[in-house]
Amino acid sequence: MKFYSADFVFPVCSTPLKDGIVVMDNSGVVIDVFENIASLNNALQIQIERSAIQKFHGMLTPGFINAHCHLELSYLKGEINKHNKLTGFIKDLVSVRMKAEHDKIINTIKSAEESMLEVGIVAVGDISNTSITFQLKNKSDLQYHTFIEAYDLFELNTDKVWNMAKELKETLQLNNRNSKCSISPHAPYSVTPHLFQKINANKPSIITIHNQETASENTLFETGTGDLKNFFELSGNKLPHIKPNGRSSIQNYVPWLNLCDEIIFVHNTFSSDDDIRYAIANTKKCWWCLCPNANLYIENTLPEIERITKATENILIGTDSLASNNQLSILSELKIITKKFPQISLHQLLTWSTINGAKALKMDSELGTLEKGKKPGLVLIENVDLQNQKITESSQSKRVA
Ligand SMILES: [Zn+2]
Repeated sequence: MKFYSADFVFPVCSTPLKDGIVVMDNSGVVIDVFENIASLNNALQIQIERSAIQKFHGMLTPGFINAHCHLELSYLKGEINKHNKLTGFIKDLVSVRMKAEHDKIINTIKSAEESMLEVGIVAVGDISNTSITFQLKNKSDLQYHTFIEAYDLFELNTDKVWNMAKELKETLQLNNRNSKCSISPHAPYSVTPHLFQKINANKPSIITIHNQETASENTLFETGTGDLKNFFELSGNKLPHIKPNGRSSIQNYVPWLNLCDEIIFVHNTFSSDDDIRYAIANTKKCWWCLCPNANLYIENTLPEIERITKATENILIGTDSLASNNQLSILSELKIITKKFPQISLHQLLTWSTINGAKALKMDSELGTLEKGKKPGLVLIENVDLQNQKITESSQSKRVA
C-alpha cells in the first residue's frame, strides 16, 4: 500500500480535502481517500507512521484527460506561423506535411507522448488520419480513443474516403490494446452531406468535429462568402455541397448527426448563445472541448467560455496538436483559462479536465476521480495559490502515481 498526501487533495467527485490522504495499492488502484491521518488509522485499523506518507506541497488530483489531440502532427512543432487564421494554418500545414520524413515523425510522436505522461495526462482523444501512431498506441501507458478523421470535399470522393476510414479502423482494431475508435467528420466545411450521412448511419457511440474555429466558417454557411470560401476557391474547389442559407455552420450540420450518441464539438471559438442552445437541443448528448492555446496560436482569440457555462457544464479540455501549441499539457490550457476567466473555479476546471473527459471517452469506470476501485493516476500540481485555490502562472503538474 502507498500513502500520498498534500496541502489539498482534489478527489473531484467530492469537495477538496485539506491535508487529505490518498491510499493506493502498488499498481495505482485507489483503496480509499481520507480526510486526515486519524480517519485513516480508524478506518484501516493500523497505526501508520507519518513518515510512511509521501507528503507533497501543492494539490493532488486525478490524472488529466486530453480530449483533443493530433499526435501524428507532433513533428510540426514550431513549423507553422502563428496568428495566420485557420486558412493560413491549413496552407502552412499542407506545405510542411509534404516534406516530412518518416523517422522524424515517429520520434516526435514518441517524445510528445512521453511529455504528456510526465505532466499527468492519462488518456487522450486522438485524431488519426493515418496509421502512424497505431504501433505506439499498442504499447502505450496512456489510454486512447482514436477518432479516425474523414473529409471528402467533393461527393465524388465520399465512397473512397469512407472505405479508407473503415480500413484504418479495422487496422487499429486488429490486436491493439488501445483499439477504441470511431470514424469522425473533420469539420463542417470539409465534409459533404453524403459523408455526414454515412458517419451518422453507423450510429457511432461518440464522434468529434472541429467546430466554428474561425469566423469565416459561419460566413461560408450563412452567405457563401468570406476567407474560407476564397481559400478553397483559389485551390479549385467551389465547395458546391455548401448551400448558404443564413444559418451558422453548426445549425446546418447538427441535423445530419442525429443518430450519434455523443458529439464532442472542438474549439467553438465562434459559437453564439443560439448555436450552443441549438446544438444541445438537437443532439442526444454533446460536449464542448476547449483548446485555448491552439485558439491563441491560430486565430489569436479565445471562445467566450461563459456562453458555454451558462448553458452546460459538459466541457472538456484538449491540447490540440504541437502544430498549434508549444506543449501538450492540460495544466497549460487551464492557466490560460484562469488568466482570462478568473471567475471560473478550480473545481470546474478540474472537473472538465478529469471526470468529464473520462465520461466523454467512456473511460470513467477507471479514470477521472480519486474514488475507491479506480486507477485514475495521481497528479501533483505545485506552485498553486492555496488560499484562493487557484492555479498560477508558475504552477507545474507532474505524475506521482
Ligand atoms: Zn484539432
